Amino acid sequence: MSRPPSLSAAMSLSLRWRMKFGSPTSSPAARCNVWHIKLLHRRFFMQIIRAVLVSADHYVSTSFHQGIEPPVECPHCDAGHALKALGYYCRNITSTKRGVLRIFVRRFRCCICGRTVSILPAFAQPYRLVLNTTIDEFFGGTLGANALAWLSLLQQYWNRFTKWIPEINRIIKSMVECWPPHPDAAGWWQVIVAAFGDLETITGTLVSRFGVTLFGRYRCHSPCNKGAIAN
Ligand SMILES: [Zn+2]
Repeated sequence: MSRPPSLSAAMSLSLRWRMKFGSPTSSPAARCNVWHIKLLHRRFFMQIIRAVLVSADHYVSTSFHQGIEPPVECPHCDAGHALKALGYYCRNITSTKRGVLRIFVRRFRCCICGRTVSILPAFAQPYRLVLNTTIDEFFGGTLGANALAWLSLLQQYWNRFTKWIPEINRIIKSMVECWPPHPDAAGWWQVIVAAFGDLETITGTLVSRFGVTLFGRYRCHSPCNKGAIAN
């Protein structure tokens, strides 16, 4: 049986990754830029994940969505200063304080190409109800009050994650040298956290570089491939 990955192996991987792709967490501004994850819907809708540096509760209580600025360039056609406000759409997300929140996600339309862009705050996991910080907690082995409140759902996330690991492994090993061995899902999680950071960073990196999340590949994810639809 292979041994669990050591922390030094994980840190070595982290260094190699940063040398190859740069650090995704060097500064808040850099985080914002790196975490602009492009999710395409039928060629006309793209979603960008942006690190907003506020909690989900603060996002809601201060109507933070109203101050979300559009990207300087249209991610579809690269036109500068062409994105104009186009309202919002709603989605739900768990709160660390009071059950489930409904958040408004800002949308913009390009006045040149007519396509739309939305800005999803990075505390949200694409297609998952539970906050990234709570998923982080649970996956890291901590059963705090937030994780306990969503235990059944989090267990489903973990099961989905463990089933998806072989595919993530295949994808990452095709692009990263010496991806260390890991005997089980817990070991795999330890390695990827040491390499990339928290779940926000992990998700941003996996989607933008490989077109996958920790839970699967979705038709709307398109890594670094403007205008294309992922399979
Ligand atoms: Zn455009």
